[in-house]
Parts: sequence; C-alpha cells; structure tokens
Amino acid sequence: MSTELQAELQTAVERRRNFAIISHPDAGKTTLTEKLLLYGGAIHEAGAVKARRSQRHATSDWMAMEQQRGISITSTVLQFEYQNCQINLLDTPGHQDFSEDTYRTLAAADNAVMLIDAAKGLEPQTRKLFEVCKLRSLPIFTFVNKLDRPGRSPLELLDEIEQELGLQTYAVNWPIGMGDLFQGVYDRRSQQIHLFERSQHGSREAIDTAIDLGDPRIESLLEQGLYHQFKDELELIEGAGSELDLEAVHQGKMTPVFFGSAMTNFGVELFLDAFLDYALKPGNHESNQGEIEPTYPEFSGFVFKLQANMDPKHRDRVAFVRVCSGKFEKDMTVNLARTGKTVRLSRPQKLFAQDREVIDEAYPGDVIGLNNPGVFAIGDTIYNGQKLEYEGIPCFSPELFAYLRNPNPSKFKQFRKGVSELREEGAVQIMYSADEAKRDPILAAVGQLQFEVVQFRLQNEYGVETTVEWLPYTVARWVDGGWEALQKVGRIFNTLTVKDSWERPVLLFRNEWNCQQLQSDHPELKLNSIAPVVS
Ligand code: GDP
Repeated sequence: MSTELQAELQTAVERRRNFAIISHPDAGKTTLTEKLLLYGGAIHEAGAVKARRSQRHATSDWMAMEQQRGISITSTVLQFEYQNCQINLLDTPGHQDFSEDTYRTLAAADNAVMLIDAAKGLEPQTRKLFEVCKLRSLPIFTFVNKLDRPGRSPLELLDEIEQELGLQTYAVNWPIGMGDLFQGVYDRRSQQIHLFERSQHGSREAIDTAIDLGDPRIESLLEQGLYHQFKDELELIEGAGSELDLEAVHQGKMTPVFFGSAMTNFGVELFLDAFLDYALKPGNHESNQGEIEPTYPEFSGFVFKLQANMDPKHRDRVAFVRVCSGKFEKDMTVNLARTGKTVRLSRPQKLFAQDREVIDEAYPGDVIGLNNPGVFAIGDTIYNGQKLEYEGIPCFSPELFAYLRNPNPSKFKQFRKGVSELREEGAVQIMYSADEAKRDPILAAVGQLQFEVVQFRLQNEYGVETTVEWLPYTVARWVDGGWEALQKVGRIFNTLTVKDSWERPVLLFRNEWNCQQLQSDHPELKLNSIAPVVS
C-alpha cells in the first residue's frame, strides 16, 4: 500500500469529528446548530439553518416545498472547520420531519450531543434517541441549555441523567445562578469563571469575560449568596462526583456535561473546544470480515438512508453513504455487496443545509450523497478490495399504525409494487396481520410524515390513490424466539399480533402500560423495541 495514501488517511481521520444532536423539539437544536456553525465561519450555512426554522410548516407545505425545490429538506450534513478540525454535524430530522430516518442517522454518527432544556430535563424524544445511541454505545455529550431562563437545579438534572439513563455524569463546567440571576459558568478545565453579561441589544448575544477563580473581582461581581452556593456545589461535585474518565465516555458510559445558553451564544465555545478534545474520531466498523479500520486503504461505506426526490419530473433518489474506510473519489467504481454488482459513483454530492455541491473526495467520517438510480437499499455496503459487508441497520420501533387500502382493484399490481418498493427504500415499515383473512398491508411508522410521503408517492409515482385506516396502537415489540416463544404464552389480550416483512412476530400494544402488563405476567417473554438486522 502506498505510504502516501496511508498518511493522507491518517491525517484525515485525526482531523475529523462527526456527531448528531439528540433532543426533544424546542430544546434549542436549531439555535445551537446556528451558533456552532458561526464558530466554523460558516455564516452562509448558519443563515440557511435559520431559514429552515421559519419553514417549520405543516406537512402539506413540506410537500409543496419538496416539489418546488426538487431536493430534500429533511436530511443534511453540515460540515465546518474549527481549530483545524473538520466537523461533520449530521442533522437528525425533528418536529414534523421526525421519522425512522432520524434514528438511522445515528447509525452514521460517531458521537451524540444530547441537548436538554434546563427547565424540562429529559423529554420523550430525547429518551428514545438515547436508546438508539445506547445500542451503539455512542459517546454522549450533554449540553444543558437555556440557563438564562429559570430552570431546574443542575444537581437535580445530573441526578436525572444518572438515574434514568444509567449514565455517569461529569460536569465539565458548572453554572452560577440561573434565569435572571445567571452569572456565568465555571470551567473546570481552565479553572476559570466565564461571566455572563447580557448585552444591551436585547438578550441575543451575551458578553463572555473569563476570570480566574482567585480573582478579587469575583466577590464583587457575583451576588454574594450565589457565589457561596456555587462554591458549595463545586465542592460537592469535586468531592463526591467521579473523575473524568475518557475511556468510559468513549464507551458511552459517562457523559461530559456542559451548561450554557445557545440563544445568547454563551458556553457554546467552551463546549465546542472540549468536544473536539474528548470526542471519538472516526473509528473501526464491525463487518463480516472483522473490524475494518478507517485507514484501511480500500474505500468502503454503508448506505444509512435513502431520500426520494418528490419532484415527479426528476425521480432520482439520493443514497446517503457513511464513509468507513479508504478514500472516496469522484467517478470511482465500487462493488455493492448485496447484489454483487459494480456501480459507478458518478455524481457524488456533499450535503449542506440547502445547497448540494459536487465533491471530488471524501474520507472516513464523512457522509456523501449518491444519486441512486434505484440500486441501493438501506444498510447496503459498498466497497473496493476484499469483499466485506457491514452490520446493517435495524428496524426501529414504530409508533403509528394504519391499514393501507387500495379501493381500486384494477390498480392492484401497481399498489403491490409501490408498497414493496417503498418498503425496500425504508420509507415505511410494512407489517401484515397474523390473521390471514386481513390482507391489507399495515403501515408502521415512527412519524406522521412517513404516511403522507407513502400516500403521496403511491399516487404520484404509481398512480394509486389510497386510503388509511388508523389502528389504535402506539407500541411495537419484536418477540425473541419468534412464533415458538409466542405460542408458549398462549392467548394475549389487548394486543394485535402482526408479522413484519421477514415474517417475524411483532406485538402491537395500545400503550406502554399494556406492554408492561404483559411483561410482568410473562417475564419469560423477551420483547425488543428494536428489531435485529436480517442478514
Ligand atoms: P429546536 O426545536 O430544538 O430546533 O429549538 P429551537 O432552536 O428552534 O429553539 C426553540 C425556542 O427556544 C426558540 O424560541 C429559541 O429562541 C429558544 N431558545 C433556544 N435556545 C435558548 C436559550 O439558550 N435561551 C432561551 N431563553 N431561549 C432559547
């Protein structure tokens, strides 16, 4: 192997940090993303993020926009340089765009930033996304946001993370006061206090002055009571709290915690600096040939997401590929593990918030968008050199279910073809009732948008108008041991038994409570919210 290529790959990997933000709507993901981009000097992109916020719209508008622009607005990777590092921020679609793709994006991330609203603590969407991170043992960095507003006590928030997520916490900085009394944060790395001062022009940008802990200005600058409270808390976390253990962070067992206010851009730089030091660089990926190192000289990667163009005039699809090893070059020919065919990757795209720009090369840790003339499926491995296949992407727990009906028998063939192709693409999961008499497919999705996309595309691409009949279930669990294990349990009440596309049994429950009830009645039954990959 050329040592030149080896050195080039090594340098590229050293410089790269890749992460996704996991949060609940309104915690401040868009705001934090904007601020992070400003540090990377990517003002243009920051504007683009803002533009997207104002486009937070009903799904029907989303369709119109997709059509108008002819490109996807739901998934992007923001790339920016900071302190000689290249940072790839994988955008996890939220709000109305929340879908299985949000989970799949985490399959391409090396690190996750868990963004929490200080007043609300852990919220449902964050917990769900956390579960997916946990499955992959991703390092989690916590940013507690909105300290400029009244919130819950920092000790209580750390306790919640420890108790409910089972993560050890290490506070990298510590807040002094909160809300109107917010005075700043103490950075344990530099042992300096960063004073928070609201600027005169509204509350948008705060002034950040760093002073040493022994600085006499502290006593006069900080309100007396708060300073002592802060000293007490600091003593507590320094005495009783654990040391920062980077190995535990990298295994997803300990989370470094930061406090700040994204809106006023306070604490964001401290966070970013520490993140660059602590985050995992692109690492090895498990394959059927063992672990593949990023510096392995042959190109390889996997498809974690497919995006269809909504414009009927341009029915191209984009396959999002996470580069795992080697160097990607424009026009290169690769092998597709699933089919054994070769594919020329002719129009690679780098993905920005809004624009797409053709790229010439990419390295491990990067994401590229490939124009996909229907050859790729979710989880596909592409590679050069020795044949290898990465692990694939699991099915994530759907929460919305509906029968999909085609009222027009003459369209039966198109309907069947459409449903099957959309499923393969990963637009939605398809299940069938275990009761053979009920033949209509059941759409199973994580977000409402997925249903609308499926119906829209069936009509536009396959000429089939469909109707949906909602089912009253919100929880899906795959059964370990399959049909056999299920049979042993006998009749189960308050559930619907369905089978997934691989004929595996899935139990649908009306709510979490019903699911827990079954678990306590039958502790021998092992239920999974995420389905293992079918190889
Ligand atoms: P997203 O839904 O997670 O993308 O959240 P946004 O970034 O859109 O923020 C939701 C709301 O919280 C907006 O009104 C923001 O201005 C506000 N917000 C975000 N960060 C902060 C912060 O640090 N302090 C305060 N007071 N408000 C914030």
